[in-house]
Amino acid sequence: MTRVFSGIQPSGELHIGNYLGAVQNWVRLQTQHDCLFCVVDLHAITQPYDPRTLSSLTLDMAVSLYAAGLDPDKCIVFVQSHVAEHNELNWLLTTVAPLGELERQTQFKDKAQRQESVPAGLLAYPVLQAADVLLYKASLVPVGEDQVQHLELMREIARRWNARYGAGYFPEPQALLTNAKRVLGLDGKAKMSKSLGNTIGLFESPESIWEKLRPAATDPARKTRKDPGTPEICNIFTLHQGFSPPQTVADVADKCRTAGWGCLDCKRVLADNMIAALAPMREQAAALRRDPPGVLERLRAGAAKARALARRTMAEVRDRMGFLKAAED
Ligand code: ATP
Ligand code: MG
Repeated sequence: MTRVFSGIQPSGELHIGNYLGAVQNWVRLQTQHDCLFCVVDLHAITQPYDPRTLSSLTLDMAVSLYAAGLDPDKCIVFVQSHVAEHNELNWLLTTVAPLGELERQTQFKDKAQRQESVPAGLLAYPVLQAADVLLYKASLVPVGEDQVQHLELMREIARRWNARYGAGYFPEPQALLTNAKRVLGLDGKAKMSKSLGNTIGLFESPESIWEKLRPAATDPARKTRKDPGTPEICNIFTLHQGFSPPQTVADVADKCRTAGWGCLDCKRVLADNMIAALAPMREQAAALRRDPPGVLERLRAGAAKARALARRTMAEVRDRMGFLKAAED
């Protein structure tokens, strides 16, 4: 069976960009493939963060993933730092990862720009990602478009390791994208991102969803109600494609092109559909938040399953790389 791996940082609340670009796909894939989904806390510390809130954000991201539909009976959900092998493989892969390629990554350049002093961990971020995926020999990685470049580099790292230590050992993982592979933030400029504060959270109240959608950017060509627009370049249309039924999506596109309605009308329909689609998840999240020990127990079981797979790979990797085996204690 095809092995699938993907991760999400506990760097803030799960937002509709994460959901439409990645997590919705995970929920679908869990019934078709052998899937692992990870809350990547080791990645989250590459940006300024508060050590006092990391653990609660990590727990809350797990809650969010379960509430969004990941079922621990159908896939493995765990926390990255609970499986130490991620760190170990990460180091081994840094010895084959090409520095020039790391420096060329758009995410690195973007995020480095926002920091006064750039930690080496931010540069090595895609190496740890490669370790996450290769540790389980996963071949499919469902992500948003912003990760495609990292996936290319991941394949390069796998090829370089395979060339030195074992032809064909690691598969070359492929990205799997959704239709909403790049959701823009509410300003309509940068991509929606936990660390940019331009998000709509998956579990926000109906009032708050509407408050954020109402002033959100649309196609700038629609200056007045009479100006026609191009739905394909409007972020609100992207969101309709994620939350509205196909007939509504077709209708929305038509009314935008012909200036048949105003952007506010369009947003009201979107808000109603979004609120309806998200309500059951919001309830589920509230129920899970009332039971932290239950969530921790699910995560413990997930990490145990992941660790068993990871240990197998690491024994083979250490052997192929020529390390001296430690005597049994
Ligand atoms: P951060 O700002 O901390 O990087 P993020 O919102 O980019 O947070 P990540 O944890 O980095 O979230 O990414 C989780 C998943 O969500 C990845 O697969 C990523 O490609 C996807 N994703 C993130 N933002 C978007 C977006 N705006 N549109 C579509 N997919 C997205
Ligand atoms: Mg990101």
